[in-house]
Amino acid sequence: LTILAIESSCDDTSAAIVRDGAVLSNKTANQEIHQLYGGVVPEAASRAHQINILPVVEGAIRAAGISKTEIDAVAFTRGPGLIGSLIVGVSFAKGFALSRNLPLIEVNHMMAHVLAHFAEATKPNFPFLCLTVSGGHTQILIVRDYLEMEVIGQTIDDAAGEAFDKTGKMLGLDYPAGPIIDKLAREGQARFTFPEPKIPGLNFSFSGLKTSILYFIKKQVAENPNFIAENLADICASVQARIVSILLHKLTKAAEETGIREIALAGGVSANSALRSGLQEEGLKRGWNTYIPKFEYCTDNAAMIGITGYYKYLKGEFVGQEVTPVARWEV
Ligand code: ATP
Ligand code: FE
Repeated sequence: LTILAIESSCDDTSAAIVRDGAVLSNKTANQEIHQLYGGVVPEAASRAHQINILPVVEGAIRAAGISKTEIDAVAFTRGPGLIGSLIVGVSFAKGFALSRNLPLIEVNHMMAHVLAHFAEATKPNFPFLCLTVSGGHTQILIVRDYLEMEVIGQTIDDAAGEAFDKTGKMLGLDYPAGPIIDKLAREGQARFTFPEPKIPGLNFSFSGLKTSILYFIKKQVAENPNFIAENLADICASVQARIVSILLHKLTKAAEETGIREIALAGGVSANSALRSGLQEEGLKRGWNTYIPKFEYCTDNAAMIGITGYYKYLKGEFVGQEVTPVARWEV
């Protein structure tokens, strides 16, 4: 069973070939244009997807070493995401399926981030908890089966990735700032303290943190115009330490409340070195089995769409040509 998978929910155009639940190829074109603007510009993203989609799909088919005729089904991201971006992938998937009379499988992007773990050799056991931390989402899910998951906590405002990126903007760093802050933080000390928000239950909030960072920087710069340049690594280490502690506190709480000790991380922010080591430390202390996919499967990629498509295919979950993209879609 060979699936062509398409992902175009944000600013990465990606295509993958998944055969019997194993990834044969996974090709992604990143859009550098957004760096000029310090964030994703939806209109520019949509146009770049149109340019990238064909070469990316052809690249994935070539890298898999298969011919187009071997494809049995087409899986695509239906949402959530930017409508203008989704339209390109959805239309391409529909056209490809129509021309070859293939079944279509719609995939929820957030469910796919979780199922990215099944692209790896070491797979978590059900039920497991997954902390998905990405550019647009921060959520803790109980995953009971491949297609059966429930959000038990999520951000009530900004996502963790946004907290990194917006902090970066205040510090004059390039977009996306997450990886830059991670790198700078390694040379710094977390000697500035930012408050941990008091949000009930398993939900998160990052907008208060953003405001306190902004006021802190403004105040310091008023006293010393070179404050940022002189303390950049320490500011990054401090912000990162707080974001990571917010995430790990809630994850620990979820593990305690549910009694689940299979703990997984997903989404682009799981590339963060402090979060990774923090999770592993916490895991050793608490007897968790921890799972973090490799970076290629953490950020947006079509392999996770193909993996999800595979499990939906097994359940006979197909959609017709009338399917349209959706900006919002709960898992
Ligand atoms: P969503 O899936 O919610 O629609 P997205 O797919 O656009 O969002 P991802 O590609 O999963 O988001 O992740 C991108 C985010 O990950 C960005 O905010 C980026 O700054 C952040 N990020 C990437 N690497 C790191 C890192 N090493 N440390 C911190 N953040 C990071
Ligand atoms: Fe994503």
